[in-house]
Amino acid sequence: MKVVGVDIGGTNTELAVVDSNDGILKIRAFKTKSSNSFLQYIDDLSCQIKELTLDYSIDSIGIGAPNFDSKAQTFCPVNFPWDDLKPFNLKAHLQRLLNIPTFLINDANASAMAENRYGAGKKFKDFLIITVGTGLGGGIIINNQLFEGAFGYAGELGHTKIEGLDRQCNCGGMGCLETVVSANGIKKSYAINMKEIKSSVQTQIPSVKTIFDMAKNGDKRCKTVLNFTFEKLGQKMADFIHIVNPEAIIFCGNIAKSMECYLPIISGFCEEQLLDDFKGKIHFGISELLDDKMNVLGPASLAFSKAEELVS
Ligand SMILES: [Zn+2]
Repeated sequence: MKVVGVDIGGTNTELAVVDSNDGILKIRAFKTKSSNSFLQYIDDLSCQIKELTLDYSIDSIGIGAPNFDSKAQTFCPVNFPWDDLKPFNLKAHLQRLLNIPTFLINDANASAMAENRYGAGKKFKDFLIITVGTGLGGGIIINNQLFEGAFGYAGELGHTKIEGLDRQCNCGGMGCLETVVSANGIKKSYAINMKEIKSSVQTQIPSVKTIFDMAKNGDKRCKTVLNFTFEKLGQKMADFIHIVNPEAIIFCGNIAKSMECYLPIISGFCEEQLLDDFKGKIHFGISELLDDKMNVLGPASLAFSKAEELVS
């Protein structure tokens, strides 16, 4: 069985032909913002998918899209630079154009689909995916099925609140978890720490990678910032665990790789908050798929699941 997996990202759009036995057969990418308007982008994307499918018999197309509303079947990439943005039904458009069953998924949930088919899903039936990158996203897998919720937005763990935290979030809310646990959150914590220690001579805020590297080399401030970040994450994880009762929490996203040595802090603070029935039973791990084109494998996993449903 062959499918196409598409990842609509803010910087790049990536698309791949994926075979159920042999993995990725062909992959290509283009700059999302190279299109002048949203409708132009839809045309460009449609052409790219069409070209990619010419040499193969494709059973299904899966697309990871930002702000996808599963009930209305529309997506609208609100942070993208075009003036003509409006909710668009890409599924109907592509099915008309290519005559191939097409399915969309919220981009955060796409990672959970990849993890379920290719990664942690091999070991666990019930688990949470936490994507730590520019922001913080989540995906919920229950009994090896993605739990999407009524409109496809389930798992917005980044916008659950930390008590007493007065940081403004991009969503308009106050004290969201992602204002601490994300690339932007870590930089913000560093900046606040700099202000608090007035003797500081350093004025530049380093990159997140540098903060992790400096912490490794013993830099006190970076260690304080990262310990604070993962203490908050650990405490908040306990809330999610009490609600979902998963076997495992798997971290993915740009920052996940650097998080390995902080897992004991996360699990430690989490365990402290857990009810006795939950204690000592949860596996905390880093995704093993981080280098494996998870961004296209997620939507491809959706396409495989849907195509398998169609033939069964
Ligand atoms: Zn928020």
